[in-house]
Amino acid sequence: MAVKEIPEIFGSMVFNDHVMRQMLPKTVYKSLKRTMQEGTALESDVADVVAACMKDWAVSKGATHFSHWFQPMTGITAEKHDSFISPDGNGNVLMDFSGKELVKGEPDASSFPSGGLRATFEARGYTAWDPTSYAFIKDDTLFIPTAFCSYTGQILDKKTPLLRSMDAISVEAVRTLRLFGKSVKRVTPTVGPEQEYFLIDMRDYERRLDLKLTGRTLFGSPSPKGQEKEDHYFGSIRPRVKAFMADLDEELWKLGIPSKTEHNEVAPCQHEMAPVFETANIATDANQLTMEVMKQVAEKHGFACLLHEKPFEGINGSGKHNNWSLTTDTGENLFDPGKTPSENAQFILFLTAVIKAVDENQDLLRLSVASAGNDHRLGGNEAPPAILSIFVGEELEEVINSIIEGRIARSGGRNRIELGMVLPKLPQDNSDRNRTSPFAFTGNKFEFRMLGSSFNIACTNTILNTAVAESLRVFNDELEGSADFSKALHVLIKRELSTHSRILFNGNGYSREWEEEAKSRGLLNYKRTPDALVHYTDEKNVELFKRHGIYTREELKSREEVLIDEYRKQVRIEALTMLEMIRKQIVPASISYSSKLAGSVASKKEIGLDVSAELELCRSITNDISALLSFADKLDEDVRKTPEDVYEAARYSADVLIPDMDSSRGIADHLETVVDKKEWPMPTYSDILFYC
Ligand code: ADP
Ligand code: MG
Repeated sequence: MAVKEIPEIFGSMVFNDHVMRQMLPKTVYKSLKRTMQEGTALESDVADVVAACMKDWAVSKGATHFSHWFQPMTGITAEKHDSFISPDGNGNVLMDFSGKELVKGEPDASSFPSGGLRATFEARGYTAWDPTSYAFIKDDTLFIPTAFCSYTGQILDKKTPLLRSMDAISVEAVRTLRLFGKSVKRVTPTVGPEQEYFLIDMRDYERRLDLKLTGRTLFGSPSPKGQEKEDHYFGSIRPRVKAFMADLDEELWKLGIPSKTEHNEVAPCQHEMAPVFETANIATDANQLTMEVMKQVAEKHGFACLLHEKPFEGINGSGKHNNWSLTTDTGENLFDPGKTPSENAQFILFLTAVIKAVDENQDLLRLSVASAGNDHRLGGNEAPPAILSIFVGEELEEVINSIIEGRIARSGGRNRIELGMVLPKLPQDNSDRNRTSPFAFTGNKFEFRMLGSSFNIACTNTILNTAVAESLRVFNDELEGSADFSKALHVLIKRELSTHSRILFNGNGYSREWEEEAKSRGLLNYKRTPDALVHYTDEKNVELFKRHGIYTREELKSREEVLIDEYRKQVRIEALTMLEMIRKQIVPASISYSSKLAGSVASKKEIGLDVSAELELCRSITNDISALLSFADKLDEDVRKTPEDVYEAARYSADVLIPDMDSSRGIADHLETVVDKKEWPMPTYSDILFYC
């Protein structure tokens, strides 16, 4: 693709502002814009015109179908395709699409998880267009981003709460800014999610049942070469991968997704794509699409794209970094330290709001990244531990400490500064300075690094927005009534920073000492998914979400149940896949090799050769086979004994099934190191990670 074509290609499959302005009558365009900006309802005659234009545009691009596109609680995206055709009564068809079809869909929703919110007999749920996220064409289908609700109005998706949380934080941040004499209409969270992934050869993928069914390898002894030479990170990209990346960029650009940076990551076969940041809900939709497109484009290039958090033991897994900030409709980034004393006081107040929000909601942020896959990653030597903490960098830490201690801060040993004075220029883009922090301030945004690579980022951002909205609400209530704003501001900031300073940590988050230290600071450390998820419905959290109109208690409970259920199902699938691989692949291969060995030992012995070493090998393999079979039997039995109740089942999976699986894996992996490669029934780590 020639460079000059890029602007033409970008967004060419999106019914974006440019297209709307061109195609819609002026009054309709204005009315739609008002809906997008102010969240007002779309009138039906306007919807009809928009739908007709959208259809004409889509058909001109080759689309034959349309689909409401939504994000049920599983976190993946769902779609149901309808064609545009409509019989005209004379045996012919017209291409038709009404405003009603655009605005509202009614998928038979009984098969989507609802955590008990919607009994199957009330199967109908409906999807409602989110006009703030543009419709787009993919695979000859017009996709309409929608929210998904039950017939009684309970939310069943990840998008609705995100949109609500965006409203909540806007309301409170606008209030805060008013205190500083600013009249802005709207404050919007912006998000740039960096996406990590693995690319492996499709032929290897096809031969691994574990990868196909569970997304990760359940077996595999380490390759002699791993990532120890640190030669992959930012290394030169092999041509086959480069071709994939070029194609990926092109497909994403067509969909209006601003894919910006592509590079190799730490582990062999691991890569990353970072887009330019966008409004939180649009970034969420775009990230969901990105993951889908990555898989599709990979297939075209003979690759399988792995988005699992830990596809391979012993080398880094994949995460997603959620860069987050707040921007006003006047274009001000609220986490950009300002140039004047007043701007700096404002910056420190917003910073304090985030510090308070993270400290008070460690549980929620932790559980927003909880899954069976991410449990393998968090707390390993590659990702932040399951403990929340914030990195602010030395300069800002000194400013914070000086406020807490009521003294004047040192700035690089020269300038002395105090709150309400101009802060020293903070180094921007300092994210590489502390890669081990789960939540880092990186100059003018925060980077939350605990997310797993396969996650839908909606949940994390809903929580982040709501938690910060709550901090701001409390601040606003206190400051709005104060006689002397400046004094009240100082008192509040000093008090809140002192109260929440335990969450600040600039050191090595991967170290054992930090775990100890965090414990003595009283920070939470929920190591496993079931330990974290049950706190979703703690009274404090129910109150928080209710107050800001994000979730009702029932909606929150349903989310907790869906995620707990998802966890136990995932572990069960892994356990059953493991059993199948042990019994049908690993044991038969090991028996076959040891039998050959036994035959050769017997015949060599007959002619008087010393076969002691070979005999020992044969004996050790045979012993391993017995041990593996009995571990498998135990795993099988334990799977059957799984309790009915989802909560008990989840805990049981973590306490019993995962340790069982670890035992089986240990032996199988040892067998892999001694059995003839020609007999081994699947590609090994060396094969997979070092393909050409
Ligand atoms: P890194 O060093 O971690 O790769 P970058 O500075 O390249 O970080 O940015 C990473 C991501 O942060 C990108 O997706 C970028 O668009 C996003 N980002 C930058 N500014 C903001 C902002 N104000 N709000 C949200 N995301 C942002
Ligand atoms: Mg980053």
